Amino acid sequence: MATKTIYYIEGDGIGPEVWKAGRPVLDAAVAKAYGSDKALDWQLLLAGEKAYAETGEHLPKATMETLAKADLAMKGPLNTPVGEGFRSLNVTMRQVFDLYACIRPIKYFKGIESPVKRPDLVDMVVFRENTEDVYAGIEYQSATPEAKKLIEFLVEEFGAKIDPTAGIGIKPITPAGSKRLVKKALDYAIAEGKPSVTLVHKGNIMKYTEGGFRAWGYELADEEYAGKIIREGEKGAGVILKDRIADAMFQNALMYPEQYSVLATTNLNGDYISDALAAQVGGLGLAPGVNMGDNLALFEPTHGTAPTIAGKDMANPGSLILSGAMMLEHIGWHEAAALIHKAVEAALTDKKVTVDLAAQINGATQVGCQEFGDILLNNL
Ligand code: NAD
Repeated sequence: MATKTIYYIEGDGIGPEVWKAGRPVLDAAVAKAYGSDKALDWQLLLAGEKAYAETGEHLPKATMETLAKADLAMKGPLNTPVGEGFRSLNVTMRQVFDLYACIRPIKYFKGIESPVKRPDLVDMVVFRENTEDVYAGIEYQSATPEAKKLIEFLVEEFGAKIDPTAGIGIKPITPAGSKRLVKKALDYAIAEGKPSVTLVHKGNIMKYTEGGFRAWGYELADEEYAGKIIREGEKGAGVILKDRIADAMFQNALMYPEQYSVLATTNLNGDYISDALAAQVGGLGLAPGVNMGDNLALFEPTHGTAPTIAGKDMANPGSLILSGAMMLEHIGWHEAAALIHKAVEAALTDKKVTVDLAAQINGATQVGCQEFGDILLNNL
């Protein structure tokens, strides 16, 4: 039997209950697809509040050492500890393991209410750069000595025109950081037979950062993908590589979503567009995601710990389950992933859903977290 080890972190808040309802669905989908030929070997890692209670650390050394050597992991949501000196645990993991690509598939599930007429035309995967851009945290508050000094330097050395009272931020975007992200998107599009990759940028205004991202994306395609990629308007076979200015991309996503498949973009654009697209297909409730580097792929639901409903059997385990399906696709277990998608579609068609989705589906019957998991299990 082929087993695949998945390290997993339960998470805080609704984490334990969505795992309890969700993990059996993933195991059952694998069993149904492959009988006794394949199985997932789950290995629990401590993190978050549970870890703090047991070890005095939110991210214990043993967890970090295991993840440093792992290729696959899944996590539930983690609370950001409140107080001075705490960085978000999610951000820490992203930085320590250099998980530079945040990947979110966005697809419509029939039955969910959407604010647009044809949400079914949306079938996109967003590759968001996860380590650079304004998120690098180089930002200074208005009128502080740091802001004043930086402004003074820019004015004196470069003749820049900046109001001395401005708050000021720096947006670093590198060729290497851009290329490795675009490479992930191109490799994915080629492997999955997707029609196109669109570089989304604001290069008309930020020429050397956003514009750089665009230029380095095309450069990479020319250097490493000859014969596999063609540019928009060119004749021939291969994945079409095109680019759109971010504002036009937002319009096009609403007006011509069928023309877009894989999007590759910088950090801030990616933040906006992945949430906008998720809303376009009916909210964030079911949205899965992964943060991926060259070694580790860390799959996780996109929601947080939902403290107000934690422990009440009200949470929707769908986002975790679909993150699991994404993980199965990533390792090539497509049949098991397809069973999960079919099971979710069937539950939505039957209108038996958790409270968050019930609010979005006319005539729905509300079920608990565990029952929703059981329904999916029976639908496989
Ligand atoms: P949240 O996603 O936890 O909650 C937003 C809203 O969505 C709430 O109304 C909540 O009840 C609802 N909700 C979220 N997930 C749900 C689910 N599975 N089923 C049903 N309803 C659901 O966001 P927040 O309130 O901004 O954050 C709460 C905590 O979670 C914070 O500590 C934050 O740092 C953390 N957080 C962690 C992650 C992560 O681990 N990746 C992501 C976002 C937020």
